[in-house]
Amino acid sequence: MSEASGKADKPVRHILSLSGGKDSTALAIYLRDRIPDLEYVFCDTGEEMRETYEYLDRLEAYLGRPINRLNPDRPFSHFLDIYRGVLPDARTRWCTRKLKIMPFERFVGNDRVINYIGIRADENRKGYISHKPNIEPRYPFVEDGIVKEDVLRILADSGIGLPDYYRWRSRSGCYFCFFQQRIEWVGLLENHPQLFQRAMEYEKIDPATGLGFYWNQRESLRALSRPERIEQIKQEHSRRQAETERIRANTPLAALFDEEAEDERACLICSL
Ligand code: SF4
Repeated sequence: MSEASGKADKPVRHILSLSGGKDSTALAIYLRDRIPDLEYVFCDTGEEMRETYEYLDRLEAYLGRPINRLNPDRPFSHFLDIYRGVLPDARTRWCTRKLKIMPFERFVGNDRVINYIGIRADENRKGYISHKPNIEPRYPFVEDGIVKEDVLRILADSGIGLPDYYRWRSRSGCYFCFFQQRIEWVGLLENHPQLFQRAMEYEKIDPATGLGFYWNQRESLRALSRPERIEQIKQEHSRRQAETERIRANTPLAALFDEEAEDERACLICSL
């Protein structure tokens, strides 16, 4: 009870941010019976992949609790117009602010919140999260020493496993995310050609300057999708993969993707 107002203080809310990726999903499973009043949220940019929605549905069924799917007040294309067609990149990253963080902050309002985030104990990842003073971030995996093998075990034991897109992509988030490696763009082209086409249609040449607004700074998707370029990207990926295997034998995901690059660049609210 607040003495000044005479009203009962609102209880602190416990909220877990889901990205549709493996770590936040494992955290939801890990906390399900530890924090009974936990609220689950997923900030849906409207530009996610089908596999992400399927994975969230699987998790929702396991949890037996609803996942709040938060939408931005305007679609990506609206903000793109405001930014005059300049695509977001790792430096400006306006998409995360407008499509992920603002809907989350609206959902929280002025309530006091503990926000649970799925960074693991074996990561040294910083990220872009809300810094509102009423939102306190907590990292249970870091506190409890949970590492990647533990996460994979939690997912396997629950029967949920990994998201299907992990066959060809290392992160959750928008299909056009600029954090993707080139081999993942090739994966998008081969697994979701229509989404690749849509991503390509967002790329433009500025008539005033002749500069290209591309998802990859130095290469348009049209150039990347040429058969000879795809072959080159695949060969380069195989070479890196062999090198990674040589260095870290028997590390399953390291055989698929360069994780150090992933950890450095990924966005906490989008990709965990
Ligand atoms: S997933 Fe990538 S493109 Fe989508 S909001 Fe996050 S940083 Fe932006």
